[in-house]
Parts: sequence; C-alpha cells; structure tokens
Amino acid sequence: MNTLVNPNDLSAIIEADRAHLWHHLIPHKPFETNDPRIIVEGKGMRVWDATGKEHLDAVSGGVWTVNVGYGRERIADAVRDQLVKMNYFANSAGSIPGAQFAEMLIDKMPGMSRVYYTNSGSEANEKAFKMVRQIAHKRHGGRKHKILYRERDYHGSTIATMSAGGQIERNAQYGPFTPGFVEVPHCLEYRAQWDVEAYGERAADAIEEVILREGADTVGALCLEPVTAGGGVITPPEGYWERVQEICRKYEILLHIDEVVCGVGRTGTWFGYQNYGIKPDFVTMAKGVASGYAAISCMVTTEEVFELFKSAPEDPMDYFRDISTFGGCTAGPTAAIENMKIIEDEKLLQNTLAMGERLMGNLEALKEKHAVVGDVRGKGLFAGAELVADRKTKEPAPEKMVQAVVADCMAQGVIIGATNRSLPGLNNTLCLSPALIATKDDIDAITDAIDGALTRVFTH
Ligand code: PMP
Repeated sequence: MNTLVNPNDLSAIIEADRAHLWHHLIPHKPFETNDPRIIVEGKGMRVWDATGKEHLDAVSGGVWTVNVGYGRERIADAVRDQLVKMNYFANSAGSIPGAQFAEMLIDKMPGMSRVYYTNSGSEANEKAFKMVRQIAHKRHGGRKHKILYRERDYHGSTIATMSAGGQIERNAQYGPFTPGFVEVPHCLEYRAQWDVEAYGERAADAIEEVILREGADTVGALCLEPVTAGGGVITPPEGYWERVQEICRKYEILLHIDEVVCGVGRTGTWFGYQNYGIKPDFVTMAKGVASGYAAISCMVTTEEVFELFKSAPEDPMDYFRDISTFGGCTAGPTAAIENMKIIEDEKLLQNTLAMGERLMGNLEALKEKHAVVGDVRGKGLFAGAELVADRKTKEPAPEKMVQAVVADCMAQGVIIGATNRSLPGLNNTLCLSPALIATKDDIDAITDAIDGALTRVFTH
C-alpha cells in the first residue's frame, strides 16, 4: 500500500505533520489545538503557507539563512546537473565543485587559506574547537586548551558548542557540559556594565581579565560572533575589535570568528569580521553559504594553522583525524558557487549596504515615534530593535508583549523574529534579517508593519 500523503491534500499533510513531525525550537502543546504552520512555496522575498496566505519574510527563512531569496532556478539547475554526474564521494578524495568553491571562497578572504567542509554551523564550530585542542596537545603539552566564549553569543546546539554558549536558559537541563570553556562578558553598550567613555576598549579589557584569571598559558582560543545575532543583534562598540585583536596577539590566543549568521553578505561585506579589520585564525560559516539550497557549512583557517598539522610526517598522530561524512556531498559547494555568483552578478553587497541604511533609518524613526523602542542596532541587512517598558530604567518590555508584536506582524503578512526565551529578562529584541535582494518597498513594508504592531500592542 502506498502511504505517501498526497502533496495536494494539504489537510492530510497537516495531519501527517501533527502525528509524526517533531519541529525544531518550539513547544508542541499548542498543536493540540492549532495547526502547525507549513510553508509550501517561496519566491524572492515571499513565502506562501498551506492556507494560501502570502508572507513577506523579514528573517530569511526564520533564522537568517536564505540570503539570495527563494526560488532560484539557477541554483537548482546547477545542483541537479552535478548530482546526476557525481553526487558523493568521501572528502578524503576531492570533487570538482569542492575545489572550485574553496578557491572562490578563499579569494574573498585575504589571509585565509584552507576550507574544511561540514554540514551545520554547530559542526563547523566543533571542528575549530577540535583543532584548538589538538594544537594545544601538539605544541603546549595539552595545557593551552581552554576556549573563551562571550555571554549572549551562540555557537550551536551540540553539547560542546552549548558548552561555549552564552545564552543561559538554552542550556538548562542539558548539562553536564564539556569542560574547558570559559565565559567572558558581553559588549552591549546599551546595557553597559562599566561607566567609562572608551566602552569598547573596556569591554575588551574584560576579556584580558578573564585570560589573566585563568592563566594565559591555559587559554588556546577566543570564539566570538562579529555581530552577536540571536543574543540581541549586538554590534560591537567602537575600539572593541582592535583591542580584542591586540589581546589575542599578546597572549598567543587563536581567534575564532563565528560567521554562521554574518557570513556571505549579511552585513554588506562578504564576512562580518571584514568590517572591523580583524585577522582571524578560524572562520566558521553556514547559513548564507548556500542560502539553504543545500546543507553546507565551512571551517576556514590559515596556512599557518594548516602547517601545524603536517609538520612531522613520521608521527601517525600528526594530522587532523576527523571526518564529516556529508562534507563529501557535491550539492553543497555547487549551490554555494551559484549563491556567491548571484551575489556578485546582482551586486547584492551594494544593495545590502543601501537597503541596510534605509532599514536603520526607518528603525530610528520608529524609535523617535514609540517610547517602547529603547535601542536600535544593526549592520547591513541585519538589525534589532530592543523594546523596553521604561526608557529611563531600560526595564525590558515583557516577553508576551514582544511576542504580541511578532504575532501582529504575522497577521499583517510580515514575518519578523525576536530574541527568545533563552535570555531571561532580555528576550525583548525584535530581529530583522531580510534577504539581500530586498527593495525599498520591502524595507518600508517591514517597518510599516512593525509601526502598526507597536501602536496596537502598546496602546491597549
Ligand atoms: N553560530 C551562530 C552564530 C548561530 O546563529 C547558529 C544557529 N542559529 C549556529 C552557530 C549553529 O548553526 P546550526 O544550527 O547550523 O548548527
């Protein structure tokens, strides 16, 4: 008997989903009374759900992923052609698109040299963590093994990446965690922890304090998001990154930049760190690499790091003894090549800068108009608006009001995001990350929807 549900029978699809699917990120109790949302089709900036309703997607697939927009036949065609020719071989052998994309990517990342293919942001980060640990063993008798991460940053959902997770409630009930990860303070100036003028330098100095407390000879790496994403769209204060780089050099600490969200155009440069003149040792990326057309992530490093893994050929433990099975899929790099070509051909970095400016301008206007908007932050097509109950005390707006704004926008046909429950008392930032193809009309439609939602939610 054929049990495949008819794709045109959407009520049967919803029933199959309700009966057997375990959705990511959300509680399931509400599905006892409400239908799960099923997205059926996408084109450009828009998606359609199973009820036929059209939505303007201001968060690129919910989690800042679909950078080049939906329905790109060019990517689908290239992937199809590649799959029928050669879909997979373990990455101990190479592939044509694997080599092509590695060269294309490194061309956009001066100073970097080697690309390691993986499947998710978490996994790319784990690979960098493993390399840091192995370098500690190879060069420092295992001692320089600790990895610093920042309060409010997020690096993934596996146990080791959660051990490097700065959003406390996400971790509740999942311990015990991996030892050797140490937190440093966040750098959000709006919620300043120090009363000083040079805030960026002070926040970076706080990292040095942790290094000295732990012992610099025990710290191997510092892992940071260039702009913190899910933790509240936190743009670094002036002077922060210069000082961070100085500190890493001073104590020989490897700098790992997590570009899972910022990577591949989101901030108007190919990579977020390129806004700040940083020279990283590891760069990890995932979401925008192929805009969700294939599962691919990359761990990119320098020739200096690569050399450390081939310096003593007589030693059988000397190489990176690691594999990611699906790092050998050719669909990923094939989709990534087309994704990057689209960004170049359509001048989407330039569009991101121009539309990002418009988005920030519109959000600033909302801040003028609505007392509930306490702070707006952003870089390129990546923005956050922090909602507060009181501008003076900066008491966060209650989560249910923030969620009511998200729901009101959804009812208007605009999908926006918000920081989630993992930041108790700080789950109050609206998050926006429209596709890099956004037009002026799209940007205005997004901020108009928020304007209406703020008026309705906060005046009743
Ligand atoms: N790093 C950052 C900055 C992220 O935002 C995410 C995902 N939201 C990850 C890592 C983990 O990526 P994945 O879900 O693909 O494992």
